[in-house]
Amino acid sequence: MDYLPVCFQLKEQPVLLVGGGVIATRKARLLHRAGAQLHVLAPLITDELVSMAGGVGKLEYETWDERSLAGFRAVIAATPDRAVNASVSARAQAQNIPVNVVDDPALCSFIIPAIVDRNPLLVGISSSGASPVLARRLRSDIESRYPSSYGDVARFMGEQREQVALILSEEDQRRQFWERLLDDTEIIATLLRGERESADGIFQSTLDSAASIAEKDPSLRGAVYLIGAGPGDPDLMTFKALRLLQRADVVLYDRLVGPGILEMARRDAQRIYVGKQRSEHAMPQADINTALLRLAKEGKRVARLKGGDPFIFGRGGEEIAELLAEGVDFEVVPGITAASGAACYAGIPLTHRDYAQSVRFITGHTKDHRLDLPWDQFLNPTETLVFYMGLAGLHIISQALIDHGRSPETPIAVVEKATLPNQRVITATLASINQRVAEEKPEAPTLLIIGDVVRLHSELNWYSPSA
Ligand code: SAH
Repeated sequence: MDYLPVCFQLKEQPVLLVGGGVIATRKARLLHRAGAQLHVLAPLITDELVSMAGGVGKLEYETWDERSLAGFRAVIAATPDRAVNASVSARAQAQNIPVNVVDDPALCSFIIPAIVDRNPLLVGISSSGASPVLARRLRSDIESRYPSSYGDVARFMGEQREQVALILSEEDQRRQFWERLLDDTEIIATLLRGERESADGIFQSTLDSAASIAEKDPSLRGAVYLIGAGPGDPDLMTFKALRLLQRADVVLYDRLVGPGILEMARRDAQRIYVGKQRSEHAMPQADINTALLRLAKEGKRVARLKGGDPFIFGRGGEEIAELLAEGVDFEVVPGITAASGAACYAGIPLTHRDYAQSVRFITGHTKDHRLDLPWDQFLNPTETLVFYMGLAGLHIISQALIDHGRSPETPIAVVEKATLPNQRVITATLASINQRVAEEKPEAPTLLIIGDVVRLHSELNWYSPSA
């Protein structure tokens, strides 16, 4: 981060504005809305500025005179003269007073973001000076999505905080309560329509039920969300995956879950890496199951993030079996499995009217360098084969398919890091793939796609990775 966004309390605080023209007036509007006491220094001052600074503030019809800035909470320079602005900035910085020079990030110690004002709800969007136009574009997107009455929703919640704190004594309980309330689209809609009385009714009944749950059995509140996070590109998560991830107090993730996905968890959520690379099992499966159980019983909401889909080579079944036996609440969220992600982003349809009428997902995970699979079932030339965990055993897979009668000319693709910015697709035939892989040295995770559909890759390859 180039800057830390913060919210500045300026109510009744003296702020110096050097400059009295149109640009200064624009900045002054924000300061005025934040309740600042405006002190304007400029030879000419617009009428609007005069009226904003009038009363509590001060107007000085002078040019900048290198004066001391002691006593000011912040200083804004908005004159057309860069030398003057630079001098104001230098003086303020020497006195450790936050200073902003309009449209001149190099002279600023703080910058002001584009603001969506749904007071008390405020959204600031900054491009760190890189592209104010982009920031403003985002602002209008947000403005059009969240009507101005969102401020009423925030105000309503603010007014209820004390009551909630009295009734729900623990922080976890309170957070869960608020989240449950926000999931209730009815109360939000009611508030947005301004129907305060009905909103009060819904609020009270939600609070009563939260209070009675908290009283009965605090341990009942924990839950596990077994979430399929997709093959890597964070945009391939489902809405439900995102919603539950953002609700979680603890996130357990393994190697297949990309950093972009973890970033979407709550900032204060605890993150636990549970590994799972070939031969590097950071936490054995049994320990993962036990950890899920223990955390949920402590009342935590636990997101177990899995790459792809939890029920496709994901041991999702094992992880929930114990939760089920112990009566812990859980939800399972399906995800886009690596086969779908890789096929799509490599331009290789898994089925196709001319080439393949079926597709088979197979684990290529070797045990003691052996692969015990029913090879004679994999010989149908109109069936696409997808091998997960197949790179280490690629030579065994390609040889066994040829030995059992699949043509050595059958096309095969090795899709490395599918859907990620550094995706690579290596194509060859069963006979030549080992040589190609030795040359290209793809790294995990990789997926093997075998069958005539691979021929379509050269034609349909639409995704151009950026890295
Ligand atoms: N549950 C997961 C699969 C877990 S098994 C899913 O549904 O996708 C792990 C294997 O998945 C890896 O060895 C690799 O073969 C495949 N895989 C997962 N993510 C991948 C990716 N981004 N690119 C290529 N293969 C991937």
